[in-house]
Amino acid sequence: MSDASCLFCRIVAGEIPAEVLRETERTLAFRDIAPKAPVHLLLIPKEHIPSAAELEREHADVLADLVQDAQHLARAEGVDETGWRLITNVGPHSGQEVFHLHFHLLGGRPLGALVG
Ligand code: AMP
Repeated sequence: MSDASCLFCRIVAGEIPAEVLRETERTLAFRDIAPKAPVHLLLIPKEHIPSAAELEREHADVLADLVQDAQHLARAEGVDETGWRLITNVGPHSGQEVFHLHFHLLGGRPLGALVG
C-alpha cells in the first residue's frame, strides 16, 4: 500500500533520492533534508500510514521495528551515550508537513525543552 502523491512513499520507491542509513523489510531510515540538530534522522514504515492517529494494533510489529531502528541508529550515529529524542507530529498544531508517519530521531547536542 503506497500513495503515488506521497513524498515519503516516493523515497521508499527510490523515485526521490535520500541518504538512506537503514532499511529493513518494513522500515526505512534516512537523514532529514533540513536538520534541526547534528543528528536528525527520519524513521518511517514502508507502508503508507498518514500519521500516528491512524495506527492500529495490527501495526504493532512495524512500530517495534521502528523503535529498534532508532536504538540501532542512535548507536551508529554515536548518540546512544549522550542521549536522543524520538518524536512524531500529528496534525496542524504539531506542524506535521509530510502525511506519512515518521519519527524524528534527534541528538548530538542538548535538545532543550520539549516544547519551546
Ligand atoms: P514533519 O513536520 O514532522 O512532517 O516533518 C517532515 C520532515 O521531513 C521535515 O523535518 C523536513 O525537513 C523533512 N523532509 C522534507 N522533505 C524531505 C526529503 N526529500 N528528504 C528528507 N527529509 C525531508
